[in-house]
Amino acid sequence: MAAEPRYYQIAVPSPLFGHFDYLPLRENPVPLTPGTRVRVPFGRGREVTGVVLGGSAHSAVPRHKLKRIARVLDDSPVLPATLLALLRWAADYYHHPLGEVLATALPAWLREGRPARLPGVPVWHLTDAGRALESSALTRAPVQRRLWEALVAVTDGLEAEPLGELSTRWREVMAIFEERGWVARHERRAESEVVPAPQPAPPLNAAQTGAIAEITGALDRYQCFLLHGITGSGKTEVYLGAIEKVLASNKQVLVLVPEIGLTPQLVERFRRRLGVPVAVLHSGLTDTQRFAAWSGAAEDKAPLVLGTRSAVFTPMPRLGLIVVDEEHDASYKQQEGFRYSARDLAVLRAAREKAPIVLGSATPSLESLKNARDGSYRLLELPERPGAAELPVVRLLDLRKLALDDGLSAPLRAAVAERLKRGEQSLLFLNRRGFAPVLMCYGCGWVAPCRRCDARLTYHQRSSKLICHHCGAEQLLPEKCPNCAGAELHPIGEGTERLESALAKIFPKARLVRIDRDSTAARGALEGKLKAVHEGRADILVGTQMLTKGHDFPNVTLVGVVNADQGLYSAEFRAAERLFQQILQVAGRAGRADKPGEVLIQTWHPDHPLFAALVRHDFNGFADYALAERSEAGFPPYSHLVLLRAESPDRGAALGFLRAARAKAETPNGVQLMDPVPSPMERRAGRWRAQLLVQSAKRAPLHEFLDGWVRALGALKQARRVRWSLDVDPADLF
Ligand SMILES: [Zn+2]
Ligand SMILES: [Zn+2]
Repeated sequence: MAAEPRYYQIAVPSPLFGHFDYLPLRENPVPLTPGTRVRVPFGRGREVTGVVLGGSAHSAVPRHKLKRIARVLDDSPVLPATLLALLRWAADYYHHPLGEVLATALPAWLREGRPARLPGVPVWHLTDAGRALESSALTRAPVQRRLWEALVAVTDGLEAEPLGELSTRWREVMAIFEERGWVARHERRAESEVVPAPQPAPPLNAAQTGAIAEITGALDRYQCFLLHGITGSGKTEVYLGAIEKVLASNKQVLVLVPEIGLTPQLVERFRRRLGVPVAVLHSGLTDTQRFAAWSGAAEDKAPLVLGTRSAVFTPMPRLGLIVVDEEHDASYKQQEGFRYSARDLAVLRAAREKAPIVLGSATPSLESLKNARDGSYRLLELPERPGAAELPVVRLLDLRKLALDDGLSAPLRAAVAERLKRGEQSLLFLNRRGFAPVLMCYGCGWVAPCRRCDARLTYHQRSSKLICHHCGAEQLLPEKCPNCAGAELHPIGEGTERLESALAKIFPKARLVRIDRDSTAARGALEGKLKAVHEGRADILVGTQMLTKGHDFPNVTLVGVVNADQGLYSAEFRAAERLFQQILQVAGRAGRADKPGEVLIQTWHPDHPLFAALVRHDFNGFADYALAERSEAGFPPYSHLVLLRAESPDRGAALGFLRAARAKAETPNGVQLMDPVPSPMERRAGRWRAQLLVQSAKRAPLHEFLDGWVRALGALKQARRVRWSLDVDPADLF
């Protein structure tokens, strides 16, 4: 056994960079393996859970100033060496304090210092003495008698729940029985899930079979595949085919999906088709459920993990394959705290653990597509829908020549009417919730502003409120204009609520279903609405981008894009890419198998190359155009971006901090610092916001520069007046 080192380096959850040195336990010190949790004193009288990084014979801090480890929590490390190394790399790459990175990766259960094993379920059972009792002994205590009879009737005792159903006083009675020696308690381990036998794969087409063969031909090494399959082309069957092979070789598989796509139906599909228990990890779980799934994977009991963003950090000792579904989805990037990209870390993890990885999408991100074109990813294409289902016809409705009534042009109304007559469903996509984005006074031109943001309030008719979609501020609808006291307040523009009420007027007999964040806020509301659509109890669906993700609507034969121009000329460099992805994804919901679909897009800019590509279903054509534009502007994937953001309730403080930060920077060749500027929305939730963009063609000099710079920022005196954060590879520049 190695000798106990004199010092341990411990990562502690704290906004400070670097690690902290501690002395070993005083009593019975044992050598600690990196990845083991310890409780350590930190700050004034506080004790926190830290993670051992390593030991050493020396410390830069004098020995008498160091504190001692208070308690060791684990016999063996909770984070295996490969994962700990990945997390240390990620802390360096995203320039985020390691202690906070580790805290993000660990389930709350472990973060809070609880034991790294699940507690069993307590069970109360009769002792021999209890079983030998005469029932007449309890005639004068009916509650005791009822509970005793229930225990006599079973062989291995009862848990809290059935006892609770017999009497609310059961705990009290069990305590009495235990005292008399009639009852004892034991713990029951959670039983392993019973799973059905695997189902055979459906018939696959040549492209699917070929893709599975390519992936399974690379199971013993790292290789990143980009699976580009048009909507409805059966990407999931390719995942399942490859996963089946990996599981058969006794290895584990990690599947990441966007938050909104992780439905019970998806979990059930994987479970039934593969015939294995599925460990599910998402943000809606309790701490215990989350830890149960996590430890199942870590202890090698769960062969398959299906999870959202942070599931990328699940320890899996025999990892054999990673799948990232809808790899383009923005939800893979964490937008606060440790701003990592789960997709990018998944690729890195696969490389480090020498496993293949599949990134799948109908609309791959331009970053991944470029990697495939450059040859660092292997491109697999699924160009067809199985069963010869045809792609929907896409037509543009030129708003320069068509009148709009409640946001709908005559051809779009006619198309909806046609579907109603045929008993088919229509889907109208409008990525703006509420009734109208603006409330305006016709007397003086006043528009309702948010007092805390540089934004207008959205009018919500249902609740008779004005709501800010940026900070959540709400106010009641004013009766008069606050500026001129006029009564002519009118909603301008369309949101989903207004579209829904317009459709109700035009088609009074149609059954409408609206799907957006407001209409699905209640628990189970979304499921109920989707069920109505699937069971044919809906004629017209109206919704936001919630409709573009993960749901199939086989009876929808018309998709109408009500306002396609949002984002077409945005300052945000990814806006066109997102718009194209959204429309193509929503268009993919139209028509399956025997029912061809039609997509109608209302736009003021029918000549835009983005729409020309959409009409041809030409993702590659769009990508050529968009990549050329990015290359010209020097944006990703042709450069690397880092955004330093700052905000403060004091006007000017954020900009002042960024100016000081810029002055502090000594930039090496190839790294460019832009001037600090106010954020596109300068004031949000009462805070003034500003940002500074750093750009570089090469990663190495960029990160070398950031290393020193970021650590110096905290010491700036201007830093005390602001909240600042660094975003490496930002998803947007807002
Ligand atoms: Zn007015
Ligand atoms: Zn606001």
